[in-house]
Amino acid sequence: MIRKIKKVAAVGTGIMGTQIATLAACRGYEVSAHDRDEQAIQRSLESIRAIIELSWKEPILTPEEWERGAQRVTFFEELPDAVKGADLVIEAVPEDLDLKREIFEQMDRYAPERAILATNSSSIPVSRIETATNRPQLCLNIHFYSLAMGVNMADLMGGRSTAPETLDAAKAWLRSMGCVALPVKKEIKGFCFNRVWRAIKRETLHMWAEGFVDYKDIDRAWMIAYGTPQGPFGMMDRVGLDVVYAIEMSYYHETGNIRDCPPKALKDMVDQNKLGIKTKEGFYSYPDPEYARPGFILP
Ligand code: NAD
Repeated sequence: MIRKIKKVAAVGTGIMGTQIATLAACRGYEVSAHDRDEQAIQRSLESIRAIIELSWKEPILTPEEWERGAQRVTFFEELPDAVKGADLVIEAVPEDLDLKREIFEQMDRYAPERAILATNSSSIPVSRIETATNRPQLCLNIHFYSLAMGVNMADLMGGRSTAPETLDAAKAWLRSMGCVALPVKKEIKGFCFNRVWRAIKRETLHMWAEGFVDYKDIDRAWMIAYGTPQGPFGMMDRVGLDVVYAIEMSYYHETGNIRDCPPKALKDMVDQNKLGIKTKEGFYSYPDPEYARPGFILP
């Protein structure tokens, strides 16, 4: 029997882990966290502040609430201490299958027997990870979008033997935090909305890297068409170009299709530490990106 979720543990407190842990803490859950880098939460809060400043939607939490909420998250240097007594453990370590399997193996070893184990992976179905545990019925994908952007929704997907109660408990948890659950009925890489976003990334990255169009014109067009304050390249800067690259690689490893291989120009940017908002340099420069300046749309 699944326990009611009261205590949540986050493993990996980068951009996403910090947002998940902090939102849960602000919504009354007892939250613990672990990251191999103890400065991760602090660093991520700086990025979250920058993301909110560039957002056009009302943020779910104000920058002050993010900071206060993060203080209620208890940080542990060791994973076994962080997951102790947790009802739900969610990992948000980098998008690497081997790393995620290794983390799940540890989560399984140290979390209570009845705890739900979730991955925030952007692309890897949990069925690839669940075999690292002895509790596949309690494993699932819960894929949050950037909450700091006011995107209060999460894809929800089970693996080969996820129990319906596991999905129900996760759905109830999301709802209790004001998040909309997007259940996936049949396993698919990329889940629900994230697969749509991924198709846009793949196409626009190739159009830019192969020299067909200026990426700024793609962003301009997107902003005019959909009324958003940034286009796909501005959005990729927000996600983190290292994260985008890793996600694209995970698709490429799966299909072997050259169309899925991210362009070398993107890898070059990652190697130069041009990762977007988090390093203040990506397709645009921060904190004053060109797309946010007057005259960008009508140069
Ligand atoms: P990030 O690079 O900001 O954070 C990853 C964190 O994991 C870092 O703080 C790092 O120190 C930590 N870490 C690395 N190895 C570890 C280990 N062995 N043990 C403990 N901690 C470890 O990445 P992110 O953007 O937060 O992405 C995390 C996950 O969430 C990825 O799977 C990504 O695909 C997914 N995701 C990202 C976004 C986004 O907008 N960035 C959105 C949805 C989902």
